Amino acid sequence: MVRYSHFERSTAEQILAWALAEFGEGLAISTSFQKEGMVVIDMAARMSPDVRVFTIDTGRLPEETYQMIDTVRQRYGIPVEVVFPDAAEVASLVSTHGPNLFFREVSSRMLCCHIRKVRPLERKLATLKAWVVGLRRSQGESRENVAKVEAANGVVKISPLADWTAQEVEDYIRAHHVPQHPLYGQGYTSIGCAPCTRPVAPGEDERAGRWWWEQDELKECGIHFLPNGQVGRRLDVLVHEVLSAKPA
Ligand code: SF4
Repeated sequence: MVRYSHFERSTAEQILAWALAEFGEGLAISTSFQKEGMVVIDMAARMSPDVRVFTIDTGRLPEETYQMIDTVRQRYGIPVEVVFPDAAEVASLVSTHGPNLFFREVSSRMLCCHIRKVRPLERKLATLKAWVVGLRRSQGESRENVAKVEAANGVVKISPLADWTAQEVEDYIRAHHVPQHPLYGQGYTSIGCAPCTRPVAPGEDERAGRWWWEQDELKECGIHFLPNGQVGRRLDVLVHEVLSAKPA
């Protein structure tokens, strides 16, 4: 992992402008249509109407997220690229472990995320030079060291909002009338797959509604942070089993 520290003093707008000019069509915004992702889309669309946006359809998304795909298409005129998991891998996963394996243990949950999110993302990134995400350092312990610009596996990862606060995100949304995911109106503060996300109570951590049944684990799916130690080794075994049992 290479961190480009000289970008740390640059603003979100400066970083996005640089990225759009530097990578052109080789750049795409990855989003699940949460507030930060929508801020990044709005900011980039003002600079370049041709900016690319993609999302991963895990097959377990809430209906409201599909509505957001239409919202972005209509508001910004951006044809959102929808990335799907490999059908044979999902068939093997569900046949071997059942549809709701994520409730069993952390490694089972990460296996589901790996097949439905991480592997499709890796395939998409292999076609890009750079991707933009909406991570913020104040979203929790696992994100406190996010770099504004870094590179890994030959792809540059750009987090222009890394040093933004939740209030700055809200201020931008209000100032620019950015469309919001309907589930925020129902008490959600972080939005992912339907079975793995719930609304949070007042005062709870921003990401407490993600995989809420897990205790003392980093609330991440492996897209941004790899699992460590025992969970990582167990995950490797499970992934190997699922891919080996994949129908031809
Ligand atoms: S968030 Fe839940 S349903 Fe979605 S990929 Fe991860 S474990 Fe599977």
